[in-house]
Amino acid sequence: MTDELVLDVEAIRAQFPILARRVHGDQPLLYLDNAATSQTPQPVLDCLQDYYGRYNANIHRGLHCLADEATAAYEQSRDTVREFVNAESTREIVFTRGTTEAINLVAQSWGRSQLHPGDEILVSHMEHHSNIVPWQLLARELDLKLHVIPVDEQGVLDMQAYRQLLGERTRLVAVSHVSNALGTINPIAEMSTLAHQHDAVMMVDGAQAVPHQRVDVQALGADFYAFSGHKVYGPTGVGVLYGRAALLEDMPPWQGGGEMISTVSFDQGTTFADIPHRFEAGTPAIAEVIALDRALRWITNLHFDLIEDWEKRLLTHATERMQAIEGMRIIGNAPHKAAVISFVIEGAHAQDIGLLIDQFGVAIRTGHHCAQPLLNHYGLEATCRASFAVYNTLEEVDHFVDALERVVTMVR
Ligand code: PLP
Repeated sequence: MTDELVLDVEAIRAQFPILARRVHGDQPLLYLDNAATSQTPQPVLDCLQDYYGRYNANIHRGLHCLADEATAAYEQSRDTVREFVNAESTREIVFTRGTTEAINLVAQSWGRSQLHPGDEILVSHMEHHSNIVPWQLLARELDLKLHVIPVDEQGVLDMQAYRQLLGERTRLVAVSHVSNALGTINPIAEMSTLAHQHDAVMMVDGAQAVPHQRVDVQALGADFYAFSGHKVYGPTGVGVLYGRAALLEDMPPWQGGGEMISTVSFDQGTTFADIPHRFEAGTPAIAEVIALDRALRWITNLHFDLIEDWEKRLLTHATERMQAIEGMRIIGNAPHKAAVISFVIEGAHAQDIGLLIDQFGVAIRTGHHCAQPLLNHYGLEATCRASFAVYNTLEEVDHFVDALERVVTMVR
């Protein structure tokens, strides 16, 4: 890193109109629910408006200039994503509605065509429901075995147990890169190496990783990698599935319709388009795909080294101050952790804390964070979660903890 590179957080904030909002009367909005969805910077908002205002058209099928422009921008986004995750080819980038759809695509297409009764899938105990339920559904349908990699008290995966669970019948390991509930950063490269030694395929849920760190699917050894646009400063309704070309090529379509075919005939049957179009049936979220391109360029231009340093400072400061609150229990303190803090406070319901702190303008999340098995592991039904983004400041951390202290006195 060079000396000139600094993160100008105030300049970054100025690009987010929503951060200037006031809520509940005249409270400045303090947005700490970034793991649920991140806010959208002006260039991405402009991009959506520019698309609808200037070149709204359906892609891949028109001969007119608007269709050409929309198609070019859509396919350009595929190349930006390719570069963003360091995939070898744009053929390996499939646009989906989000992480959930990307994982379901793998389950329904790769899983149904490649797995057989008795085959084993490993998932971790800290997965989001969207990386559990598609595999449970498939396991029920195909009579597969689903094994769970345990998590220790700190919120770290038990690698010894993982090694032991890997076996001859293991066909897939499905693990999140970063836990949405704990912030734990999992050792994906090491896990992929072990999975590959058993000829198992590595599926990574990257929904919580891409906003915080540079992702290189090749260095990680990921065979599939999924993420959502709305968690990386882009729009909702768009996500990405990276899939290694050799795997995608052998996979059948999972949804049928326009755009994904080569020829359709009642007599000779239907032949399918090459990858990645085979997996993109129907009109996609064109504007959102194009705006995702803008979001990924935006975050890349900020430099991930700087983002990581800044978010680490936010995490450290928040953790230190929160630990001083009486009865505070922070759930998960993995040594490698993204800026996500799940917590409960003795004598106070998570729900009450969430509702009351909202009155101070502070948006945090309460609930099970779509990770019920993980919360049950800690003997909990709900936690509060503060999750930070690049635009949050140390002053905001102080305001948040000050508000939390006041809330605690109110509910106790
Ligand atoms: N995986 C993780 C780790 C998540 O945090 C989320 C969303 O919270 C998802 C998957 C699902 O993402 P989406 O709802 O955008 O499909």
